[in-house]
Amino acid sequence: MDCIEFLGTGGTRTPTQGTTCLRVSNHCVIDAGNLINTFGDDVFTIEHIFLTHSHLDHIIDIPFLADLFVTQKKVSLKIYGLKSTLDDLRQFIFNHRVWPNFEEITLIGHTEKTIELIELELETPCTVDDVTLTPFKTNHTEGSCGYIIEKNGAGIMFTADTYRCDRVWELLNERPNIHTLVTEVSFPSEFAKLAYDSKHLTPAILADELNKCKRDDFAISVMHLKALFVAPIIDELNAMKLLRNRGKVLVDGDRIQYSH
Ligand SMILES: [Zn+2]
Ligand SMILES: [Zn+2]
Repeated sequence: MDCIEFLGTGGTRTPTQGTTCLRVSNHCVIDAGNLINTFGDDVFTIEHIFLTHSHLDHIIDIPFLADLFVTQKKVSLKIYGLKSTLDDLRQFIFNHRVWPNFEEITLIGHTEKTIELIELELETPCTVDDVTLTPFKTNHTEGSCGYIIEKNGAGIMFTADTYRCDRVWELLNERPNIHTLVTEVSFPSEFAKLAYDSKHLTPAILADELNKCKRDDFAISVMHLKALFVAPIIDELNAMKLLRNRGKVLVDGDRIQYSH
């Protein structure tokens, strides 16, 4: 693939919109908010899922994927994340209570387990297909991360859910190959307290954070808007001219090219 495909971009699930889910290569996705409805019959091509954190809107299709894969696949579905994200999956999802423990259940007719959980180290690159993913710490939940996604030397930064986060801007300053920032804006600026409490951004907070960045040459696109507030958030983003260098509010199905 020569682009990242945004399969789910919403901050809420609605009848017409999925939650966070990016296809970064033929076999690899980041987050699992909208895999079943978008892949359809191609769902069995998914081999690798990199997680940003364990909130439900980012993991919701994984249990159903495991359920489909156990009779159909020959090799484990590999799920990558920081330690606390994987611990959450084990403790709260694949615990034989909420869902079967597919980490212990063997693929029918084969030797490998249905899922394999693989721990990532912060800022240590991991290459799958021909894409390199480098997790970096964000400010959202214990163990949340974003990814620098690189292919053929060109980079896109995906913060996923985050509040104010110095490391985002340090990395952008350090790495001029990043041509696009994809971040989140969940609430209108009047909800600053809610944004702080839930560790999400508003347009005003994003504008303030941008003062930490020495560069102005990358595109800024946003997603994860809470469905009830899409119109006022877009009005604010436009008034503040935040979607610079041809950035946009991403919707399901949008694509961003790796080369720029
Ligand atoms: Zn979250
Ligand atoms: Zn989220």
